[in-house]
Amino acid sequence: CGIIGILGRHEVSPQLVDALKRLEYRGYDSAGVATIDEAGKLDRRRAVGKLVNLSDRLVHEPLRGHTGIGHTRWATHGAATEENAHPHRSGPVAVVHNGIVENYRELRDELVSAGIQPESQTDTETVALMTGKFMAEGMPPREAARATLARLKGAFALAFLFEGEDDLIIAARKGSPLAIGHGKGEMFLGSDAVALSPFTDRITYLEDGDHAVLTREGVQIYNAECEQVSHPEHRIDVGT
Ligand code: GLU
Repeated sequence: CGIIGILGRHEVSPQLVDALKRLEYRGYDSAGVATIDEAGKLDRRRAVGKLVNLSDRLVHEPLRGHTGIGHTRWATHGAATEENAHPHRSGPVAVVHNGIVENYRELRDELVSAGIQPESQTDTETVALMTGKFMAEGMPPREAARATLARLKGAFALAFLFEGEDDLIIAARKGSPLAIGHGKGEMFLGSDAVALSPFTDRITYLEDGDHAVLTREGVQIYNAECEQVSHPEHRIDVGT
């Protein structure tokens, strides 16, 4: 299971799939990608089984755009079906997630009482639905993601992508590793440096409780108290 995020300068969906291939060794049962196209439109493709199923889907139903997130899933909550595959979407937000949201039942009950009906059996979809709800109430993307993160219990890595925002990915780490990759006018996010090695060897690791706001200009990292922090940049030699 793995996560990838790219704020790039080229068509991003082939890059996302290539990076996911580098995370295959972790095991997975389904995969998916979401992108923002030049008009700001958010769209996604998902497929059960090997990554080749996802790339076939992308040949027949391409996804355009230079900004996107990708995921390989190792199901913990809900069977390995397309509707349970990530990215999960709610209105203007798409979310990929590794790990477990331990209080998802409580969150789901709260959402259902507010008239919001999940479409999947996953713990992850509650993260997308809650962020979508906060945005529908008027919160901008960063605040909505932060408000959602403040509600989550468990061990996880997360990435958020927003409709109309082709220069923004928000990522969070609590328990599961996440690496930020620095490019020239491009920024990357991945479960490990190996996934990012075709793109950059300049890596900053998020620490537990951190969340990061990525744009093509760079990354701002905040700790659990929402104070801005700075972590060292490493040069990684992982080969290619
Ligand atoms: N708990 C999530 C799910 O079952 C994420 C699993 C993973 O780490 O890939 O969908």
